[in-house]
Amino acid sequence: MPELPEVETVRRALAMELVGRQITAVRGRSVAMRRPLDVAGLATVLPGRRFIEPRRRGKFLLLDTDPAGSLLLHLGMSGVIQLVPAAAPLKPHTHLILELEDGRELRFVDPRRFGMAVWLEPGDEADDPSLSALGIEPLAPGLSHSLPPLIRNRRAPIKSLLLDQHLVVGIGNIYAAEALWRAGIHPRRAGHRISVARLAKLAANLQEVLTEAIAEGGTTLRDFATPDGNSGYFAVSLQVYDRQGEPCARCGATLRAEAIGGRMTAWCPRCQR
Ligand code: ZN
Repeated sequence: MPELPEVETVRRALAMELVGRQITAVRGRSVAMRRPLDVAGLATVLPGRRFIEPRRRGKFLLLDTDPAGSLLLHLGMSGVIQLVPAAAPLKPHTHLILELEDGRELRFVDPRRFGMAVWLEPGDEADDPSLSALGIEPLAPGLSHSLPPLIRNRRAPIKSLLLDQHLVVGIGNIYAAEALWRAGIHPRRAGHRISVARLAKLAANLQEVLTEAIAEGGTTLRDFATPDGNSGYFAVSLQVYDRQGEPCARCGATLRAEAIGGRMTAWCPRCQR
């Protein structure tokens, strides 16, 4: 499943390739997704518009256009965005195709259909059901100040709080585990039992992990525009996620794992408290 760094990598790739490009036509099949895909509706609003700098909010992409409006995208569990020549073979489960003036096509492929693509008119964004309840952006400046107040009054395990999209957006299982390992915080520790200083360190570690992952993702960008181009998923060098039974890279203790809030979580029993 794409997490925030993967989505940000896709956003950067689209920023390099799409800005200024005009949409000439829209094709596809209206299918049930996270929110219904309305190809006919998109075909009435998109042609003639040009892409401007795309934005990201959590794991949502906002492909903004001129005249103003946004195509709101979510990659779900399995979604891939391709930017390919029109002659490139169509992959199975390609639900939406935007034809561009330069002879390429922006294609949205999503076998499991947990993703979505919906049109937002200017002003729709504030009340949009997917966007309006989202928490703070982990990559925004000042996270070490904005994170502690959100966590300090909560009794849930810190691991579950980090995954709560109403508090902080875009942090999935992998990066939560890695940041907690770096911060030396036990994933089961209750939010209100972690000092502000330790939460500030956790905030810094979260930003580090995400920034490093985005930097590694940059190496996939050059493949982006090829016919079999990927969306930019990549493996980061993980120290704790899914490494239960292996020695901790910091202290050598054997890493453990248990389900916390229904999600498997690995940690070091010696250096995470
Ligand atoms: Zn350790």
